[in-house]
Amino acid sequence: MKQQLYCTLCGKNRDQVKGLLQGFEGHICNECAVQAYQAFQEEFNASEKSSKKKAPKFQVTKPIEMKNFLDQYVIGQDEAKKHLCVAVYNHYKRLTQPKSDDEVQIEKSNIIMIGETGTGKTYMARTIAKMLQVPFCIADATVITEAGYVGEDVETILTRLLQAADYDVPKAEMGIVFIDEIDKIARKSDNPSITRDVSGEGVQQALLKLLEGSIVNVPPQGGRKHPDQKMIAINTENILFVCGGAFDGINRHIAKRLNTRPIGFSSDDVLHNALEETNIMQFITAQDLKSFGLIPELLGRLPVVTYLNPLNKETLLSILTNPKNAITKQYYKLFKMEGIDLEFEKAALEYIVDQAMEYKLGARGLRSICEAIITDAMFELPSQKGVREFIITLPYAREKFERTVFHQMKKVA
Ligand code: ADP
Repeated sequence: MKQQLYCTLCGKNRDQVKGLLQGFEGHICNECAVQAYQAFQEEFNASEKSSKKKAPKFQVTKPIEMKNFLDQYVIGQDEAKKHLCVAVYNHYKRLTQPKSDDEVQIEKSNIIMIGETGTGKTYMARTIAKMLQVPFCIADATVITEAGYVGEDVETILTRLLQAADYDVPKAEMGIVFIDEIDKIARKSDNPSITRDVSGEGVQQALLKLLEGSIVNVPPQGGRKHPDQKMIAINTENILFVCGGAFDGINRHIAKRLNTRPIGFSSDDVLHNALEETNIMQFITAQDLKSFGLIPELLGRLPVVTYLNPLNKETLLSILTNPKNAITKQYYKLFKMEGIDLEFEKAALEYIVDQAMEYKLGARGLRSICEAIITDAMFELPSQKGVREFIITLPYAREKFERTVFHQMKKVA
């Protein structure tokens, strides 16, 4: 009788696989061989990358040049841009300094940006990262929970950075992480002992170790950590963290703080009016963030506090038309590819801005409103012969927009 050959590793017999390789004491099938090859490849790649001890080199751009670059994409927000550029510049200057024994240690300048949704917080951080050509990732603070609870571990933030760096550890270790919605993990109450606050204060505590600069074991594929998983160690010392949040209602905390201080106004009314007229957000300090519910230890690791102005009509109009990759410019290009010259009438642009203001979506709403107006044209025009020009007039924009679900929903509400 013919002896049945089988793979010593997986146990499949000759008929179940394409081939079997004979060894001294047994066989290995093609499937196990491929798996073994892949395992080796991964292992070699990982060790090759981590053995590249030399950190990637890059040119540190001066703050003014950085701001000039940002200005091409981000409209307004000068104050925030200035803070961001200086913080990023100091951070990367610190990285390029050789380690010395001198006692002056430059500390990390992690940043916290406060501003309504859609005012450009993420966009600014992303644009800076693009300019510096460093890996960048966005993490949402609301999905993170304290270890052991339903949600994601704080280390998964670094998984995303690692993925953005294509698993090149030294490169990831110089990246920028944007943590969005940091205000949503504010402490829920002043008394932390009543119930465990696993998605609030617990997360703030967990974030501390990332922000301060330590070696963190990161699961390469994300998800919950488990004992058998292979971890990648990442040093967060040179990773810049930018946190952003809307901090709804923080103006009350600022006003309250300013009110309790003698700053030269004779009566509360005068102070109140003065605060109404000015943008009160410009007076924001770490103290206000603390009274909002961020723990002092976390604030200590976010030394740069800056704010973004709400976008007014003029700024939104400018966002629609001026930046290097402005939405309207993108449409012009798309239509040009069809041989059509597109034009937006000024009144139509103003109408788009008015709708964005009404829906309180910030600049984020501009794109969806434009899409709602222009989709029909993009659907029909490519099939029509001889069209050389298309003008979006105010009546056209209004008619298209009023037919959208967007608008209908508003009417129901
Ligand atoms: P958030 O402040 O909520 O993080 P984003 O930065 O994500 O808002 O902004 C959403 C989109 O709106 C961006 O992708 C960008 O296209 C646009 N945008 C927002 N603010 C500005 C701005 N000041 N200048 C130019 N575009 C902006």
